[in-house]
Amino acid sequence: MIGKIEHLGIAVKDIEASNALFTKLLGRPPYKEEAVESENVITSFFQSGTNKIELLQATHPDSAIAKFIEKKGEGIHHIAFDVDDIEAEITRLKAEGFQMIHEVPKDGADNKRIAFLHPKGTNGVLIELCQEK
Ligand code: ZN
Repeated sequence: MIGKIEHLGIAVKDIEASNALFTKLLGRPPYKEEAVESENVITSFFQSGTNKIELLQATHPDSAIAKFIEKKGEGIHHIAFDVDDIEAEITRLKAEGFQMIHEVPKDGADNKRIAFLHPKGTNGVLIELCQEK
């Protein structure tokens, strides 16, 4: 089942500068910074109430984040939903006609297994499914 919005992902050019900005904005520093080498990104996570914000900076020009910023500039990159059974959700969504970027879950940041849906099928919004490991 799809649950709450787990986090919002924001693409940034300079994660150190953005960490300082969001620390000022939210009144607390990130609780975690983590590189995801398979995605060529570094991430940081902020808690705000029960919600989380993920900042993502590309570490390589081939990274999806670098391409996103090139096309659209910095800003909201994806919405991540909490799921209790990621394989079951991928199967369900494919049966509903959604196109998956990842048909097999992969390891993401923040101790999650993740899979993205293709934004072409979701009104241009990149959607991430994530399940706590
Ligand atoms: Zn995310």
